[in-house]
Amino acid sequence: MPPQNSPPKPLHKVIMVGSGGVGKSALTLQFMYDEFVEDYEPTKADSYRKNIILGGQECQIDILDTAGQEDYAAIRDNYFRSGEGFLCVFSITERESFESTQDFRDQILRVKGADSATDNIPFILIGNKSDLQNRRQIPLEECERIASEWRVPYIETSAKTKDNVDKVFYDLL
Ligand code: GDP
Ligand code: MG
Repeated sequence: MPPQNSPPKPLHKVIMVGSGGVGKSALTLQFMYDEFVEDYEPTKADSYRKNIILGGQECQIDILDTAGQEDYAAIRDNYFRSGEGFLCVFSITERESFESTQDFRDQILRVKGADSATDNIPFILIGNKSDLQNRRQIPLEECERIASEWRVPYIETSAKTKDNVDKVFYDLL
């Protein structure tokens, strides 16, 4: 007998945003392949797809790892429009990357439409490089404060040790 056509699996589209060098690619590759990649091409945007089990049901996660082309507003807006959920990443070792999360948040809210209340867009603020506590530039309380202003979760990750990496993807879904 020919294999039966199974119903299409639900597909969830996740966008990685944040300034350069914060670890968007490292987090994505750690989640996808259980590997810490130190030198992923910084200008390369790529998308990845993985089958996962969510609440007992098989589904697919599609991850878009953005990489600076977002400077072209039209491209960036298209990316953001296509996203269902967002992982907004900064590095706890770089204050500038923390400050710029505000711009990413504003852009996402704008593209998603003025009346899409904050709470409707799946969004997690991520402080990455938690293995580098000794180089920390932003106190934990400050990170938590901005997340609570935005009414989003704040989670610290390490793409190096894989700490909380699976958690942020599953929590977002
Ligand atoms: P992207 O530009 O946001 O995609 O950043 P990358 O994923 O390319 O990472 C930039 C640099 O930071 C690379 O050298 C990574 O190896 C390093 N890196 C990324 N995540 C971590 C982390 O959690 N801990 C440490 N120690 N280094 C990291
Ligand atoms: Mg990258």
